[in-house]
Amino acid sequence: MRHEDPVLAPLFGTVDHHFVAGRDAVPVRRTDQIAATGHFGAFFHTPFLLRGAVTTGVTALFYRGEMSFTQALPQSVSPSRLSDFQTCPRRYQYASIERIPQPASYATAKGRFAHYVFEQLFTLAPRDRTIENAREFIAPAVEAILTEDVRADIDMDDAMLAKLIAETDSILTTYFRMEDPTAISSEGVELRLGATVNGAPLFGILDRLDRDADGTLAIVDYKTGGLPNRNYDSQTFANAELYAALCEASLGEKPKKIRLMYVAKGETIERDVTDVVVKARSNSASNAWGRINQYYDDGDFPATPSINACRFCSYKELCRANGVPVPR
Ligand code: SF4
Repeated sequence: MRHEDPVLAPLFGTVDHHFVAGRDAVPVRRTDQIAATGHFGAFFHTPFLLRGAVTTGVTALFYRGEMSFTQALPQSVSPSRLSDFQTCPRRYQYASIERIPQPASYATAKGRFAHYVFEQLFTLAPRDRTIENAREFIAPAVEAILTEDVRADIDMDDAMLAKLIAETDSILTTYFRMEDPTAISSEGVELRLGATVNGAPLFGILDRLDRDADGTLAIVDYKTGGLPNRNYDSQTFANAELYAALCEASLGEKPKKIRLMYVAKGETIERDVTDVVVKARSNSASNAWGRINQYYDDGDFPATPSINACRFCSYKELCRANGVPVPR
């Protein structure tokens, strides 16, 4: 599900309680999975690193104190960008304050490609949501998702395109074994939600919000990557649980379930949404938003390098150029 904000926040401005429901509200272009493409134009513009400090048990590296940002602080933040911030504040700075584009990867392109097909499938009347009709959206997905910039980022050639199409077809086959979309009652797909939650201005785009047979709401999030570790931790559901808080604040109704659909693997992981979890996620978002404002005012978003944080980060080379000891 997605999510936000270097691109969307400036477009939507203040987000208090704006909400668009139903299929009439879609489609919208997903902007969080693949940010606008391009490369590190601002490569050497950041100030020197000066010192180390310790926060929350990890080494945090700060800029010299005189830095201030010419870019405005985004007016809202998505669950995924909050997660970025909590992993490494410097990553949030690069992505959301400086808005340095992150090049597409094959994995992100595939994710967007599959999400596009699912989104289009759910614009059809329930009886028309067949696998044959779903396959009809693959060709439009090539046009809509594989822009020249994306193709350049991932060095796409004919063999890669054929692989992407074959893998998407396989995802569709697997998906239709997981559920029958003709029987799904959806309140919205690519549902745009914005509300201030516990002082944090949140904005995000939900893959799908279902009305289950028992009348309750369920958050559905498609995952095109691998399954989490069997002992999946609370982070697996963290974004979706924050979306539950966002739904409650926007719609006045708290979803009862979260459904993570691993559509490449044929497995769904479900979890109930509890008041305790929603409150905890809201408090965490509020705390993070307070720190974002504080770091912005200070001109310092600390870097917290680690193997896990840096492994898939697009800003590795930029960080290294600025003296951050990014693990190899
Ligand atoms: S490379 Fe590591 S330290 Fe640098 S922004 Fe990314 S996660 Fe943070």
